[in-house]
Amino acid sequence: MREQIAQLEELAAIDEQLRRVEEQLKTRREGLQGLRSSLQDLESRMGTDRESVAQMEKTQKDLHAEIRNLLNQIERSREKYSRSRTERETAAAQRELEELRKLVRDREDELQKLENVAQSARTSIGEADAKATGVRAELEGTSEGTLGTIGDLEKEKAELESRRSVASKALPPVLYRRYESVRTRRPRAIASTHDGTCNGCHIAIPPMMYQKIQRQEEFDQCPNCRRIVYYTPAPSASPPDASASA
Ligand SMILES: [Zn+2]
Repeated sequence: MREQIAQLEELAAIDEQLRRVEEQLKTRREGLQGLRSSLQDLESRMGTDRESVAQMEKTQKDLHAEIRNLLNQIERSREKYSRSRTERETAAAQRELEELRKLVRDREDELQKLENVAQSARTSIGEADAKATGVRAELEGTSEGTLGTIGDLEKEKAELESRRSVASKALPPVLYRRYESVRTRRPRAIASTHDGTCNGCHIAIPPMMYQKIQRQEEFDQCPNCRRIVYYTPAPSASPPDASASA
């Protein structure tokens, strides 16, 4: 029983270390992943913006061509107007001219609107580009170090896992299964007691159970937190001179 307590404590200590290593790994990986994905976001946003700027530039070109075409038509209309003989012809030429001029104004308005949108898209591309440069520099600066740390942590994790495998096989299978079942709910699955209070949840263990635990005959579980609970004498329980004479 004493030996099993020591084995359980060792296993719990390994699990504790494993948990810490896994947390650090997670933080490092998430940090790297976060930088990478924000770079990806920026690049895809820039891609979309560049496409729409290109589209707008094409439309602007088309509009310019249309305006040139309309101006030619206006020129012809003016000639028609100057050649008109009758009032009817004059009125018709005037109407045509007005319509054409209105079409030119509409195209010019459209051009101006497009230019405003394109300009703000270019600004946002510039901003995203500056941000991406910063993220890239951060990635280059940290990724080597972070990857190195991740490598070290992975090595540490593998070592702990092999130690864990040895430690878990040392325990009786029934006890190990119990330990694992508690561990699904409690990261630290064991708790000691030296005064009848469970060290895991700090709640008193029923006296009958505590007596049994104190005799160290078998493992029990705390009725409150379900941790595997075992008795260890308090460090201060033995008088200082007793250890000196031992
Ligand atoms: Zn408890």
